[in-house]
Amino acid sequence: MGDSLLVMKFGGTSVGSPERIRGVADLTAQMAASRPTVVVVSAMSKVTDLLLDTLRRGEAGDQQAVEAGIQNLSDRHIGAARELLPADRQEAVIDQITVILDGYARIARGMLLLRERPVRAVDEAVTVGEQLSALLIAELLQSRGVAAARVDAVGVIATDDEFGAASPLMAETAERARATLGQLLDSGIIPIVTGFNGSTLSGQRTTLGRGGSDFSAAIIAAALEASELWIWTDVDGILTGDPRVVPDARVLESVTYNEAAELAYNGAKVLHGRTLQPLVDHLIPVRIKNSFNPQAPGTLISDRKSEGHNVGAITSFEHVTMISIEAVSLTQSGAQLMSRALAVTARARAEVLLLTRSSFRQNFCMLVRTEDVEDVIEGLREELALELAHGYVHPFEIDHSVGLLASVGEGMKGTSGLAGRLFTAISARQINIIAIAQGSSEITIAIVVRADRLQDAVRAVHEECNLGSTGYRPLESTREPVG
Ligand code: ADP
Ligand code: ASP
Ligand code: MG
Repeated sequence: MGDSLLVMKFGGTSVGSPERIRGVADLTAQMAASRPTVVVVSAMSKVTDLLLDTLRRGEAGDQQAVEAGIQNLSDRHIGAARELLPADRQEAVIDQITVILDGYARIARGMLLLRERPVRAVDEAVTVGEQLSALLIAELLQSRGVAAARVDAVGVIATDDEFGAASPLMAETAERARATLGQLLDSGIIPIVTGFNGSTLSGQRTTLGRGGSDFSAAIIAAALEASELWIWTDVDGILTGDPRVVPDARVLESVTYNEAAELAYNGAKVLHGRTLQPLVDHLIPVRIKNSFNPQAPGTLISDRKSEGHNVGAITSFEHVTMISIEAVSLTQSGAQLMSRALAVTARARAEVLLLTRSSFRQNFCMLVRTEDVEDVIEGLREELALELAHGYVHPFEIDHSVGLLASVGEGMKGTSGLAGRLFTAISARQINIIAIAQGSSEITIAIVVRADRLQDAVRAVHEECNLGSTGYRPLESTREPVG
Protein backbone atom coordinates (compact mmCIF):
# COMPACT_ATOMS: atom_id res chain seq x y z
CA MET A 1 0.00 0.00 0.00
CA GLY A 2 2.92 2.22 0.91
CA ASP A 3 4.22 3.39 -2.45
CA SER A 4 2.78 6.85 -2.52
CA LEU A 5 0.60 6.74 0.58
CA LEU A 6 0.50 10.00 2.49
CA VAL A 7 -0.62 10.19 6.12
CA MET A 8 -1.53 13.71 7.24
CA LYS A 9 -2.23 14.75 10.83
CA PHE A 10 -4.00 17.97 11.73
CA GLY A 11 -3.46 19.32 15.24
CA GLY A 12 -5.91 21.11 17.52
CA THR A 13 -5.35 24.64 16.24
CA SER A 14 -5.57 23.38 12.65
CA VAL A 15 -9.14 22.23 13.37
CA GLY A 16 -9.86 24.88 16.01
CA SER A 17 -12.71 26.74 14.28
CA PRO A 18 -15.14 26.29 11.37
CA GLU A 19 -12.88 28.45 9.25
CA ARG A 20 -9.85 26.30 10.06
CA ILE A 21 -11.83 23.09 9.39
CA ARG A 22 -12.63 24.44 5.92
CA GLY A 23 -8.89 24.87 5.37
CA VAL A 24 -8.31 21.26 6.45
CA ALA A 25 -10.94 20.05 4.00
CA ASP A 26 -9.27 22.07 1.22
CA LEU A 27 -5.83 20.63 1.95
CA THR A 28 -7.20 17.10 2.28
CA ALA A 29 -9.15 17.25 -0.98
CA GLN A 30 -6.15 18.73 -2.75
CA MET A 31 -3.68 16.07 -1.61
CA ALA A 32 -6.08 13.14 -1.93
CA ALA A 33 -6.74 14.09 -5.55
CA SER A 34 -3.20 13.10 -6.48
CA ARG A 35 -2.31 10.28 -4.09
CA PRO A 36 -3.89 7.92 -1.53
CA THR A 37 -4.23 9.86 1.71
CA VAL A 38 -5.13 8.98 5.28
CA VAL A 39 -6.04 11.86 7.60
CA VAL A 40 -5.60 11.77 11.38
CA VAL A 41 -7.23 14.53 13.41
CA SER A 42 -6.96 16.02 16.88
CA ALA A 43 -9.85 17.43 18.85
CA MET A 44 -10.63 21.11 18.25
CA SER A 45 -8.18 23.25 20.23
CA LYS A 46 -8.85 23.40 24.00
CA VAL A 47 -11.54 20.70 23.75
CA THR A 48 -9.41 17.98 25.38
CA ASP A 49 -8.56 20.38 28.22
CA LEU A 50 -12.26 21.09 28.71
CA LEU A 51 -13.19 17.40 28.57
CA LEU A 52 -10.61 16.55 31.21
CA ASP A 53 -11.38 19.52 33.40
CA THR A 54 -15.10 18.72 33.36
CA LEU A 55 -14.36 15.18 34.58
CA ARG A 56 -12.17 16.58 37.38
CA ARG A 57 -15.01 18.88 38.39
CA GLY A 58 -17.29 15.83 38.42
CA GLU A 59 -14.98 14.02 40.79
CA ALA A 60 -14.95 17.12 43.00
CA GLY A 61 -18.75 17.16 43.09
CA ASP A 62 -19.21 20.42 41.17
CA GLN A 63 -22.46 19.72 39.32
CA GLN A 64 -22.79 23.20 37.91
CA ALA A 65 -19.35 23.05 36.31
CA VAL A 66 -20.09 19.61 34.84
CA GLU A 67 -23.30 20.79 33.22
CA ALA A 68 -21.64 23.99 31.99
CA GLY A 69 -18.80 21.95 30.47
CA ILE A 70 -21.20 19.65 28.64
CA GLN A 71 -23.18 22.63 27.35
CA ASN A 72 -20.02 24.36 26.17
CA LEU A 73 -18.88 21.26 24.25
CA SER A 74 -22.28 20.91 22.68
CA ASP A 75 -22.49 24.60 21.68
CA ARG A 76 -19.05 24.57 20.14
CA HIS A 77 -19.55 21.48 17.97
CA ILE A 78 -23.16 22.07 17.04
CA GLY A 79 -22.27 25.67 16.20
CA ALA A 80 -19.49 24.41 13.93
CA ALA A 81 -21.81 21.90 12.24
CA ARG A 82 -24.34 24.67 11.50
CA GLU A 83 -21.66 26.88 10.07
CA LEU A 84 -19.96 24.22 7.98
CA LEU A 85 -22.66 21.97 6.61
CA PRO A 86 -25.49 22.48 4.13
CA ALA A 87 -28.92 22.85 5.75
CA ASP A 88 -30.13 19.41 4.65
CA ARG A 89 -27.25 17.61 6.44
CA GLN A 90 -27.21 19.65 9.62
CA GLU A 91 -29.90 17.91 11.65
CA ALA A 92 -28.56 14.39 10.99
CA VAL A 93 -25.05 15.45 11.98
CA ILE A 94 -26.28 17.34 15.04
CA ASP A 95 -28.04 14.14 16.10
CA GLN A 96 -24.74 12.27 15.84
CA ILE A 97 -22.95 14.98 17.84
CA THR A 98 -25.63 14.68 20.49
CA VAL A 99 -25.26 10.89 20.69
CA ILE A 100 -21.47 11.18 21.09
CA LEU A 101 -21.81 13.88 23.75
CA ASP A 102 -24.52 11.94 25.58
CA GLY A 103 -22.00 9.13 26.02
CA TYR A 104 -19.56 11.62 27.50
CA ALA A 105 -22.20 13.22 29.73
CA ARG A 106 -23.15 9.82 31.17
CA ILE A 107 -19.58 9.20 32.26
CA ALA A 108 -19.10 12.75 33.64
CA ARG A 109 -22.35 12.54 35.63
CA GLY A 110 -21.35 9.08 36.87
CA MET A 111 -18.15 10.59 38.26
CA LEU A 112 -20.20 13.30 39.90
CA LEU A 113 -22.31 10.66 41.59
CA LEU A 114 -19.46 8.41 42.68
CA ARG A 115 -16.87 11.15 43.32
CA GLU A 116 -14.37 9.00 41.51
CA ARG A 117 -12.43 9.34 38.27
CA PRO A 118 -11.23 5.90 37.19
CA VAL A 119 -8.53 5.98 34.48
CA ARG A 120 -10.42 3.66 32.17
CA ALA A 121 -13.50 5.84 32.28
CA VAL A 122 -11.39 8.94 31.64
CA ASP A 123 -9.93 7.35 28.49
CA GLU A 124 -13.38 6.28 27.33
CA ALA A 125 -14.74 9.80 27.85
CA VAL A 126 -11.92 12.00 26.63
CA THR A 127 -11.70 10.53 23.15
CA VAL A 128 -15.02 12.12 22.17
CA GLY A 129 -13.09 15.28 21.25
CA GLU A 130 -11.43 13.51 18.34
CA GLN A 131 -14.66 11.70 17.40
CA LEU A 132 -16.42 15.04 17.05
CA SER A 133 -13.73 16.73 14.97
CA ALA A 134 -13.40 13.66 12.72
CA LEU A 135 -17.16 13.68 12.23
CA LEU A 136 -17.22 17.36 11.23
CA ILE A 137 -14.35 17.01 8.75
CA ALA A 138 -15.68 13.83 7.15
CA GLU A 139 -19.14 15.38 6.80
CA LEU A 140 -17.77 18.58 5.32
CA LEU A 141 -15.77 16.64 2.72
CA GLN A 142 -18.79 14.51 1.86
CA SER A 143 -20.95 17.60 1.47
CA ARG A 144 -18.42 18.83 -1.10
CA GLY A 145 -18.66 15.56 -3.00
CA VAL A 146 -15.33 14.20 -1.75
CA ALA A 147 -15.57 10.58 -0.57
CA ALA A 148 -14.46 10.49 3.06
CA ALA A 149 -15.40 8.46 6.13
CA ARG A 150 -14.91 8.99 9.83
CA VAL A 151 -12.93 6.14 11.35
CA ASP A 152 -12.70 5.54 15.09
CA ALA A 153 -9.09 4.57 15.90
CA VAL A 154 -10.47 2.03 18.36
CA GLY A 155 -10.65 -0.31 15.38
CA VAL A 156 -7.24 0.68 14.03
CA ILE A 157 -4.65 1.10 16.79
CA ALA A 158 -4.16 -1.82 19.16
CA THR A 159 -2.47 -0.93 22.43
CA ASP A 160 -1.45 -2.34 25.78
CA ASP A 161 -3.64 -1.51 28.78
CA GLU A 162 -1.58 1.37 30.18
CA PHE A 163 -4.60 3.69 30.28
CA GLY A 164 -3.71 7.34 29.81
CA ALA A 165 -0.36 6.60 28.16
CA ALA A 166 -0.79 3.42 26.17
CA SER A 167 1.81 1.93 23.83
CA PRO A 168 0.92 0.46 20.45
CA LEU A 169 1.04 -3.25 19.66
CA MET A 170 2.43 -2.86 16.17
CA ALA A 171 1.79 -6.28 14.63
CA GLU A 172 -1.85 -6.23 15.69
CA THR A 173 -2.18 -2.59 14.59
CA ALA A 174 -0.75 -3.35 11.15
CA GLU A 175 -3.35 -6.06 10.71
CA ARG A 176 -6.21 -3.86 11.91
CA ALA A 177 -5.04 -0.86 9.88
CA ARG A 178 -4.72 -2.82 6.66
CA ALA A 179 -8.17 -4.26 7.15
CA THR A 180 -10.02 -1.06 8.02
CA LEU A 181 -8.08 1.72 6.30
CA GLY A 182 -6.83 -0.40 3.39
CA GLN A 183 -10.36 -1.26 2.43
CA LEU A 184 -11.45 2.38 2.41
CA LEU A 185 -8.41 3.47 0.41
CA ASP A 186 -9.01 0.72 -2.13
CA SER A 187 -12.53 2.08 -2.57
CA GLY A 188 -11.23 5.62 -3.09
CA ILE A 189 -12.53 6.85 0.27
CA ILE A 190 -10.37 9.11 2.45
CA PRO A 191 -10.27 7.76 6.01
CA ILE A 192 -10.56 10.54 8.61
CA VAL A 193 -9.18 8.79 11.68
CA THR A 194 -9.48 9.97 15.27
CA GLY A 195 -6.07 10.75 16.76
CA PHE A 196 -5.04 10.22 20.38
CA ASN A 197 -6.74 6.90 20.97
CA GLY A 198 -6.72 3.18 20.36
CA SER A 199 -8.02 0.15 22.19
CA THR A 200 -6.74 -2.83 24.12
CA LEU A 201 -6.98 -6.27 22.60
CA SER A 202 -10.23 -6.71 24.52
CA GLY A 203 -11.62 -3.53 22.98
CA GLN A 204 -11.34 -1.04 25.84
CA ARG A 205 -10.54 2.51 24.79
CA THR A 206 -7.09 3.81 25.59
CA THR A 207 -5.30 7.11 25.00
CA LEU A 208 -1.69 7.64 24.00
CA GLY A 209 -0.88 10.56 26.33
CA ARG A 210 -1.50 14.29 25.89
CA GLY A 211 -0.60 15.53 22.44
CA GLY A 212 -0.79 11.91 21.30
CA SER A 213 -2.36 12.47 17.88
CA ASP A 214 1.14 12.94 16.44
CA PHE A 215 1.97 9.48 17.79
CA SER A 216 -1.30 8.07 16.35
CA ALA A 217 -0.40 9.36 12.91
CA ALA A 218 3.10 7.89 13.15
CA ILE A 219 1.74 4.53 14.28
CA ILE A 220 -0.67 4.46 11.34
CA ALA A 221 2.01 5.58 8.88
CA ALA A 222 4.29 2.78 10.08
CA ALA A 223 1.49 0.21 10.10
CA LEU A 224 0.60 1.01 6.49
CA GLU A 225 4.24 1.59 5.48
CA ALA A 226 3.29 4.99 4.15
CA SER A 227 5.76 6.88 2.02
CA GLU A 228 5.43 10.10 4.05
CA LEU A 229 3.86 11.60 7.15
CA TRP A 230 2.92 15.26 7.21
CA ILE A 231 2.11 16.86 10.55
CA TRP A 232 0.13 20.05 10.10
CA THR A 233 0.38 22.50 12.99
CA ASP A 234 0.37 26.24 13.66
CA VAL A 235 4.06 27.09 13.09
CA ASP A 236 6.20 26.91 9.94
CA GLY A 237 8.09 23.84 11.16
CA ILE A 238 10.52 22.94 13.89
CA LEU A 239 12.12 26.15 15.07
CA THR A 240 15.48 26.70 16.71
CA GLY A 241 13.55 27.48 19.92
CA ASP A 242 9.99 27.75 21.18
CA PRO A 243 8.74 30.92 19.48
CA ARG A 244 6.92 31.91 22.67
CA VAL A 245 10.26 32.02 24.48
CA VAL A 246 12.67 32.98 21.71
CA PRO A 247 11.13 35.63 19.46
CA ASP A 248 13.83 35.41 16.77
CA ALA A 249 13.70 31.61 16.49
CA ARG A 250 14.26 30.37 12.96
CA VAL A 251 12.65 27.49 11.06
CA LEU A 252 14.95 24.52 10.50
CA GLU A 253 14.91 23.16 6.96
CA SER A 254 15.70 19.63 8.08
CA VAL A 255 16.58 17.66 11.18
CA THR A 256 17.45 14.01 11.77
CA TYR A 257 15.16 11.55 13.51
CA ASN A 258 17.54 11.62 16.45
CA GLU A 259 17.50 15.39 16.69
CA ALA A 260 13.72 15.57 16.42
CA ALA A 261 13.31 12.81 18.98
CA GLU A 262 15.67 14.53 21.43
CA LEU A 263 13.85 17.83 20.91
CA ALA A 264 10.44 16.27 21.47
CA TYR A 265 11.65 14.28 24.45
CA ASN A 266 13.13 17.41 26.02
CA GLY A 267 9.97 19.46 25.80
CA ALA A 268 9.54 20.87 22.26
CA LYS A 269 5.75 20.77 22.19
CA VAL A 270 5.64 20.71 18.41
CA LEU A 271 6.02 16.91 18.47
CA HIS A 272 4.72 14.34 20.93
CA GLY A 273 7.76 12.69 22.53
CA ARG A 274 7.20 9.24 21.09
CA THR A 275 6.16 10.23 17.57
CA LEU A 276 9.30 9.10 15.80
CA GLN A 277 9.63 5.68 17.42
CA PRO A 278 7.46 3.79 14.93
CA LEU A 279 8.90 5.59 11.89
CA VAL A 280 12.62 5.15 12.24
CA ASP A 281 12.73 1.45 11.33
CA HIS A 282 10.80 2.10 8.14
CA LEU A 283 12.71 5.33 7.39
CA ILE A 284 9.42 7.11 6.76
CA PRO A 285 10.17 10.82 6.38
CA VAL A 286 8.09 13.35 8.30
CA ARG A 287 7.32 16.91 7.30
CA ILE A 288 6.13 19.44 9.86
CA LYS A 289 3.97 22.01 8.08
CA ASN A 290 1.91 25.05 8.93
CA SER A 291 -1.78 24.75 8.08
CA PHE A 292 -2.00 28.54 8.38
CA ASN A 293 0.75 28.88 5.74
CA PRO A 294 0.61 25.74 3.58
CA GLN A 295 3.00 27.10 0.95
CA ALA A 296 5.91 27.17 3.38
CA PRO A 297 8.13 24.09 2.91
CA GLY A 298 8.16 23.19 6.63
CA THR A 299 10.80 21.04 8.30
CA LEU A 300 11.83 17.65 6.98
CA ILE A 301 12.65 14.94 9.54
CA SER A 302 14.63 12.07 8.04
CA ASP A 303 17.85 10.15 8.54
CA ARG A 304 19.87 12.70 6.56
CA LYS A 305 22.22 14.96 8.47
CA SER A 306 22.37 18.55 7.37
CA GLU A 307 25.70 20.23 6.84
CA GLY A 308 27.33 22.76 9.08
CA HIS A 309 25.22 22.43 12.20
CA ASN A 310 26.56 21.93 15.61
CA VAL A 311 23.63 23.03 17.68
CA GLY A 312 20.28 22.71 15.91
CA ALA A 313 17.78 23.91 18.48
CA ILE A 314 17.16 24.69 22.14
CA THR A 315 14.18 23.38 24.06
CA SER A 316 12.94 23.79 27.57
CA PHE A 317 10.72 22.07 30.08
CA GLU A 318 9.11 24.01 32.92
CA HIS A 319 7.15 21.33 34.70
CA VAL A 320 9.96 19.25 36.10
CA THR A 321 11.01 18.37 39.65
CA MET A 322 14.38 17.43 41.09
CA ILE A 323 14.47 14.70 43.71
CA SER A 324 17.72 14.40 45.66
CA ILE A 325 18.55 11.34 47.71
CA GLU A 326 21.54 11.09 50.00
CA ALA A 327 22.87 8.33 52.20
CA VAL A 328 23.74 9.44 55.73
CA SER A 329 26.91 7.43 56.07
CA LEU A 330 29.48 6.57 53.47
CA THR A 331 29.03 2.88 54.30
CA GLN A 332 25.65 2.95 52.59
CA SER A 333 26.25 2.29 48.89
CA GLY A 334 25.08 5.23 46.79
CA ALA A 335 25.14 3.08 43.67
CA GLN A 336 22.81 0.56 45.24
CA LEU A 337 20.44 3.27 46.44
CA MET A 338 20.41 4.70 42.94
CA SER A 339 19.58 1.40 41.31
CA ARG A 340 16.69 0.86 43.73
CA ALA A 341 15.42 4.38 43.09
CA LEU A 342 15.56 3.83 39.34
CA ALA A 343 13.59 0.62 39.74
CA VAL A 344 10.94 2.69 41.56
CA THR A 345 10.70 5.17 38.68
CA ALA A 346 10.35 2.31 36.22
CA ARG A 347 7.50 0.81 38.25
CA ALA A 348 5.82 4.24 38.42
CA ARG A 349 6.34 4.53 34.63
CA ALA A 350 8.02 7.87 35.20
CA GLU A 351 10.79 8.91 32.86
CA VAL A 352 14.01 10.11 34.44
CA LEU A 353 14.88 13.14 32.34
CA LEU A 354 18.27 13.62 33.95
CA LEU A 355 20.35 11.80 36.53
CA THR A 356 23.47 13.08 38.25
CA ARG A 357 25.51 11.50 40.95
CA SER A 358 28.23 12.49 43.33
CA SER A 359 30.17 9.42 44.32
CA PHE A 360 31.95 11.37 47.04
CA ARG A 361 28.79 12.36 48.89
CA GLN A 362 26.82 9.19 48.16
CA ASN A 363 24.16 11.43 46.77
CA PHE A 364 22.28 11.56 43.51
CA CYS A 365 19.56 13.66 41.88
CA MET A 366 16.83 12.59 39.50
CA LEU A 367 14.81 14.96 37.37
CA VAL A 368 11.28 13.79 36.58
CA ARG A 369 8.15 15.39 35.16
CA THR A 370 6.18 17.15 37.89
CA GLU A 371 3.07 15.15 37.00
CA ASP A 372 4.96 11.95 37.93
CA VAL A 373 6.45 13.18 41.20
CA GLU A 374 3.71 12.06 43.55
CA ASP A 375 3.86 8.44 42.35
CA VAL A 376 7.66 8.40 42.39
CA ILE A 377 7.89 9.79 45.93
CA GLU A 378 5.29 7.36 47.20
CA GLY A 379 7.23 4.51 45.62
CA LEU A 380 10.53 5.76 47.05
CA ARG A 381 9.07 6.04 50.55
CA GLU A 382 7.91 2.45 50.32
CA GLU A 383 11.13 1.13 48.80
CA LEU A 384 13.37 2.96 51.28
CA ALA A 385 11.05 2.76 54.30
CA LEU A 386 13.59 0.91 56.45
CA GLU A 387 16.50 3.19 55.57
CA LEU A 388 14.37 6.27 56.26
CA ALA A 389 13.07 4.87 59.55
CA HIS A 390 16.59 4.07 60.79
CA GLY A 391 18.02 7.33 59.56
CA TYR A 392 20.37 5.67 57.04
CA VAL A 393 19.07 7.94 54.32
CA HIS A 394 18.42 11.68 54.63
CA PRO A 395 14.83 12.81 54.05
CA PHE A 396 14.41 13.30 50.28
CA GLU A 397 14.86 16.82 48.97
CA ILE A 398 12.15 17.71 46.48
CA ASP A 399 12.66 20.84 44.43
CA HIS A 400 9.79 21.96 42.21
CA SER A 401 11.26 25.30 41.25
CA VAL A 402 13.64 24.06 38.59
CA GLY A 403 13.50 23.95 34.81
CA LEU A 404 15.34 21.98 32.18
CA LEU A 405 16.84 23.29 28.99
CA ALA A 406 18.43 21.17 26.32
CA SER A 407 20.53 22.06 23.34
CA VAL A 408 20.28 19.49 20.59
CA GLY A 409 22.26 18.94 17.39
CA GLU A 410 24.06 16.13 15.56
CA GLY A 411 26.99 18.47 15.04
CA MET A 412 27.63 18.69 18.77
CA LYS A 413 29.15 15.22 18.66
CA GLY A 414 32.85 15.64 19.18
CA THR A 415 32.75 19.45 19.20
CA SER A 416 35.05 20.19 22.09
CA GLY A 417 34.51 23.17 24.34
CA LEU A 418 30.87 23.54 23.41
CA ALA A 419 29.46 22.63 26.82
CA GLY A 420 31.81 25.16 28.42
CA ARG A 421 30.60 27.91 26.10
CA LEU A 422 26.97 27.17 26.94
CA PHE A 423 27.69 27.27 30.68
CA THR A 424 29.61 30.51 30.32
CA ALA A 425 26.74 32.09 28.37
CA ILE A 426 24.28 31.09 31.09
CA SER A 427 26.54 32.13 33.97
CA ALA A 428 27.22 35.49 32.35
CA ARG A 429 23.56 36.30 33.01
CA GLN A 430 23.96 35.46 36.69
CA ILE A 431 21.96 32.27 36.31
CA ASN A 432 23.08 29.38 38.51
CA ILE A 433 23.45 26.00 36.89
CA ILE A 434 22.04 23.31 39.16
CA ALA A 435 22.87 20.20 37.15
CA ILE A 436 24.13 19.19 33.75
CA ALA A 437 24.13 16.04 31.68
CA GLN A 438 25.19 15.01 28.23
CA GLY A 439 23.21 12.11 26.84
CA SER A 440 25.08 9.05 25.66
CA SER A 441 24.12 9.94 22.10
CA GLU A 442 26.20 13.11 22.53
CA ILE A 443 23.72 15.16 20.56
CA THR A 444 22.07 16.71 23.61
CA ILE A 445 23.41 18.76 26.49
CA ALA A 446 20.79 19.14 29.21
CA ILE A 447 21.09 21.88 31.84
CA VAL A 448 18.96 22.43 34.93
CA VAL A 449 18.49 25.99 36.22
CA ARG A 450 16.01 27.72 38.54
CA ALA A 451 12.59 27.81 36.91
CA ASP A 452 12.28 31.59 37.17
CA ARG A 453 15.42 32.03 35.05
CA LEU A 454 14.71 29.23 32.58
CA GLN A 455 13.55 31.44 29.74
CA ASP A 456 16.52 33.77 30.18
CA ALA A 457 18.84 30.79 30.05
CA VAL A 458 17.18 29.49 26.86
CA ARG A 459 17.59 32.90 25.20
CA ALA A 460 21.22 33.09 26.34
CA VAL A 461 22.07 29.71 24.82
CA HIS A 462 20.07 30.44 21.64
CA GLU A 463 22.03 33.65 21.21
CA GLU A 464 25.39 32.08 22.04
CA CYS A 465 24.79 29.45 19.37
CA ASN A 466 23.84 32.12 16.79
CA LEU A 467 20.59 30.33 16.08
CA GLY A 468 18.48 33.44 15.54
CA SER A 469 16.86 34.66 12.36
CA THR A 470 19.79 36.97 11.72
CA GLY A 471 21.38 33.92 10.10
CA TYR A 472 22.98 30.74 11.21
CA ARG A 473 26.72 30.52 11.68
CA PRO A 474 28.35 27.40 13.02
CA LEU A 475 29.88 28.02 16.43
CA GLU A 476 33.50 27.74 15.35
CA SER A 477 33.25 30.73 13.04
CA THR A 478 32.07 33.05 15.78
CA ARG A 479 35.35 33.01 17.66
CA GLU A 480 37.28 36.23 17.74
CA PRO A 481 39.84 36.31 14.93
CA VAL A 482 43.29 35.70 16.31
CA GLY A 483 45.92 38.41 15.79
P1 ADP B 1 -0.88 20.95 17.51
O1 ADP B 1 -2.13 21.41 18.15
O2 ADP B 1 -0.83 21.21 16.04
O3 ADP B 1 -0.49 19.55 17.88
P2 ADP B 1 1.02 21.98 19.45
O4 ADP B 1 0.50 23.16 20.19
O5 ADP B 1 0.98 20.66 20.12
O6 ADP B 1 0.27 21.93 18.05
O7 ADP B 1 2.52 22.25 18.97
C1 ADP B 1 2.84 23.41 18.23
C2 ADP B 1 3.44 24.44 19.16
O8 ADP B 1 4.67 23.96 19.67
C3 ADP B 1 3.82 25.74 18.49
O9 ADP B 1 2.74 26.61 18.41
C4 ADP B 1 4.94 26.27 19.39
O10 ADP B 1 4.45 27.23 20.27
C5 ADP B 1 5.38 25.07 20.21
N1 ADP B 1 6.82 24.82 20.12
C6 ADP B 1 7.63 24.60 21.18
N2 ADP B 1 8.88 24.42 20.79
C7 ADP B 1 8.90 24.50 19.45
C8 ADP B 1 9.92 24.38 18.46
N3 ADP B 1 11.20 24.13 18.77
N4 ADP B 1 9.56 24.51 17.17
C9 ADP B 1 8.28 24.75 16.83
N5 ADP B 1 7.28 24.89 17.72
C10 ADP B 1 7.57 24.75 19.01
N1 ASP C 1 -6.45 16.20 21.71
C1 ASP C 1 -5.38 15.52 22.40
C2 ASP C 1 -4.69 16.48 23.37
O1 ASP C 1 -5.03 17.66 23.40
C3 ASP C 1 -4.40 14.91 21.46
C4 ASP C 1 -3.70 15.86 20.53
O2 ASP C 1 -4.17 16.97 20.32
O3 ASP C 1 -2.67 15.49 19.96
O4 ASP C 1 -3.86 16.07 24.13
MG1 MG D 1 0.52 18.68 19.52
